[in-house]
Formats: sequence, C-alpha cells, structure tokens
Amino acid sequence: MIFRLFGNVSQRVPSFLYRVSLMMKPQVVFVLGGPGAGKGTQCSNIVENYSYTHLSAGELLRAEQARDGSEVGYLISTYIKEGKIVPVEITINLLKKAMEETMQKDEKKFRFLIDGFPRNEDNLEGWNKVMDSKADVKFVLFFDCSNEVCVSRCLERGKNSGRTDDNRESLEKRIQTYLHSTRPIIELYAKLGKVRTIDASRSVDEVFADVKVILDKEG
Ligand code: UDP
Ligand code: MG
Repeated sequence: MIFRLFGNVSQRVPSFLYRVSLMMKPQVVFVLGGPGAGKGTQCSNIVENYSYTHLSAGELLRAEQARDGSEVGYLISTYIKEGKIVPVEITINLLKKAMEETMQKDEKKFRFLIDGFPRNEDNLEGWNKVMDSKADVKFVLFFDCSNEVCVSRCLERGKNSGRTDDNRESLEKRIQTYLHSTRPIIELYAKLGKVRTIDASRSVDEVFADVKVILDKEG
C-alpha cells in the first residue's frame, strides 16, 4: 500500500510541476500617471530590459474603436474625445482577452504592465470582479508629473500622434478626470503600501534610471 502510494506520487511529480509551470498566475503591475506622464514610453523601455508584456488600456480601446464591425467603436470614440472613462465592461474584456492570448502563445509570459488602468472606481470594481482571483497585482508604478508638464507634452505629441484627444480642449477634460477619478485610486493603493512613485517630470533616461531601481528590487 505504502509502496503503491509512493510510486504514484513519484510518477505524478514531473507532470504536476509541468502543469504548475503552465498555469503561472499572471503578475500585474498597474502603471498610472497623468496624460503624457510618460507611461507608454517607460513601458517600452521596461519591455526591452525586463520580461514584461505591455498592455495599454488606451491602445486596446483605440484598436477596438478602429476595428471593423465593432459594436462599441462609436461609444469609445466619444468617450476618448471627451476625456471620459469608458465603462469597465468594455475595457476589462479587452484586457482579459489580451492577457489570455499572450499566455496562450507563450506560457512564460505571465508578467504584465497594465498601462492606464484602473482609472476610476468603476474600473477598479470591474477588475476586482473579473480579474482579482485570476491575477496578482504586485504594485502600482506611479509616474508623478505636474499638470502643466503633462499638458505641454501631450500638445507636443498631438502634432504627430493623430490622436483625437491630444488637443487643449480634450486635455483640460482629461486632466480633470485624472485629478478627480484616477488620483483617488492611486491614494487607495498607497494606503495599502502598494505605490512606487517616480518623479516623471525629468528626462526619459533619468526617469528610467529610477524605474530600473524599483524593478530590480521588486522583480
Ligand atoms: N481610457 C478609458 N479607460 C481606460 C484607459 C483609457 O476610458 O482604462 C480612455 C480615456 O478616455 C482616456 C483615453 O482612453 O482619456 C486615452 O488613454 P491613454 O491611456 O491612451 O492616454 P495617456 O494617459 O497614455 O495619454
Ligand atoms: Mg499612453
């Protein structure tokens, strides 16, 4: 009996470990900061140097907006132009799908930078409802930058970005949304000791040097 039990366990060990390795729970870093704080730029730098996959909620929404046959394309376009936050049901589905597709293609890709999300209470509730049990939020990388710097960077970017929201009128609304809806979410994570703040008003290289210190420490 004992021998049989032992035999079974030892036979199961490799396949068990193999399956665990296939089922790594996604590890998530939320990347937050005002419009133009440099989230996308720094995420690209991180991807080049660390094993993270970058998912920008804004980019996923823009891609869905542009997709032929999308039933929510028009809704997304009006929300983005107005600097409002799209209902989370839409965003969370896009994020979940992107995470699943990434992990299905390569099971070693289970570390994610989720850029520009969660932006308000609705976003956070949606995440908690759909993803909280499926993924671990390690910490929030917060790119802290004055509103003036944010606005001038976005206006500069607007010369070539082709984005409908990189103009003064949309930016005023985006800044208000950021201050009233997103900052409280960052505060909430700060109370849990989960925010790593970086002074994002400096040059790309200076900011990235600080990002590296944090990631080297946190893994
Ligand atoms: N957006 C949203 N939900 C999200 C992320 C983005 O509704 O989770 C919308 C929102 O209208 C926002 C716009 O997409 O103002 C642009 O977001 P993005 O993150 O691309 O802008 P950034 O902050 O990087 O300049
Ligand atoms: Mg961005």
